[in-house]
Amino acid sequence: MTLRFDPGSIERFKTEISAIPGYPAGEALPIRDMVFESGAVFRLPELLTLAGADPAQPLLVVLDDTVMRRAGDELKPLILNLLRQGGWAPESLVLAPDATGQVHTDFAQIGRVKERLQPNLAVLSVGSGAVTDIAKHACFMFQQEHGLAPLPFVVYQTANSVSAYTSNMAPTFVDGVKRTLASRYPDVLVCDLETLRDAPYDMTAAGVGDLLAAFGSYADWWLACRLGIDPSYTEFAQTLMGPLDEIFLDRAEAIRSRSLHGMADLAKLIALGGLAMSLSHATAPLSGYEHVISHVLDLTAERAHRPLAQHGSQVALATLLTTAAYRGFLRQFDPARVVVADCYPTEAEMKARIEAAFSALDPSGQVAAECWSDYRLKLAAWHDQRATFKAALDDWPQVRSKLAALTRPPELARRILESVSAPLRFDQLTPPPSAAEVRFAFAHAPLIRRRLTLGDLPVFLGWDPETWWAQVSAETAAG
Ligand SMILES: [Zn+2]
Repeated sequence: MTLRFDPGSIERFKTEISAIPGYPAGEALPIRDMVFESGAVFRLPELLTLAGADPAQPLLVVLDDTVMRRAGDELKPLILNLLRQGGWAPESLVLAPDATGQVHTDFAQIGRVKERLQPNLAVLSVGSGAVTDIAKHACFMFQQEHGLAPLPFVVYQTANSVSAYTSNMAPTFVDGVKRTLASRYPDVLVCDLETLRDAPYDMTAAGVGDLLAAFGSYADWWLACRLGIDPSYTEFAQTLMGPLDEIFLDRAEAIRSRSLHGMADLAKLIALGGLAMSLSHATAPLSGYEHVISHVLDLTAERAHRPLAQHGSQVALATLLTTAAYRGFLRQFDPARVVVADCYPTEAEMKARIEAAFSALDPSGQVAAECWSDYRLKLAAWHDQRATFKAALDDWPQVRSKLAALTRPPELARRILESVSAPLRFDQLTPPPSAAEVRFAFAHAPLIRRRLTLGDLPVFLGWDPETWWAQVSAETAAG
């Protein structure tokens, strides 16, 4: 099957997607081109020019110190040589890893890039999610602070790992908690298929996993809308992405064998994922309960000074939990047994609960304070929308069937993960979170963010967390 909307044909793509219901009226996508080609690396000088860069002006190349290979060559020297031969004078900025051995998107790294920026400079990022997000957000902050037009910015994607490359948002650690900050689009996205093929395969499998979030996140977003907490829901993302279950079952072998067309298809899906969120003006379409669970696991790892596990694979495993949670919830929830008046914990109760939950992770209280500052907005909206909740209970058969239609079963997610040889259990991640950490993340994810997901309902309904976890983990393992 072919993708209904092909980002590789930019002008037609822009025209076609602007007709999808839910496309933001009057908004033009500023990306000038997205290239998914064998040998695209050799077009870099031309693509920089297309982005508005000028060989006579400085070019900052942002990368990390990971050695990458492409068709037997070392990728980064190859790129720098190609640029020099093309008449450019690239200056490299190599981002050093922190104590965990990884480069994370935080304001220290963003600041390192930002202090190298100047008007009339162009930026090329060569890397995967974190390097891209750091470079992107440094450009964005520099432009904002100086009131400048966007600097020419080209993203050279080195792995099919996350949907960061085409997104105008940047997930960034703020006081240890991952937050999504408004940022900017690239001018040009370069996907060189040989580079993507030769990337570590666990990154490719993670790219599939990150998109499987859709199996629960569309439902989370709709639920938040139906309960009056987030009115922004549209079906734009679903239309743009197409039937991800069918697409992945069809493409699994091409992806697993690292064929160039498999790499191109996955890169396009990943590009669509970034655009689905950006053009919905929210990460909500592809970031629901499963992403918040992943954020808590990242927070736990960060506090323990451990490296973060591969984002998309962690998200995929969290998706097995959340899709099982949906099925279990829809099977057993009975609106007739809800005492509405008991579903509204007070600010004091929830603040104490958040402080108790996160004090062991961070005795300074900074993490709990950051979580509470966001959570309290959701709690206030939940209280305000009491009538909407009551109406949804009265309309439960319809609500239930809509949620069932928007979700996919955990077995289907597992089958796709299996078919692309992705991790199927948390203990297969590197490094693996402990079983206790996974359980903590499942239970406490709703407490860190303002976005409402399925995870909030058992909290508001006062369900016993131990019983609920036992049910969900049994349901997940049953697959
Ligand atoms: Zn993600």
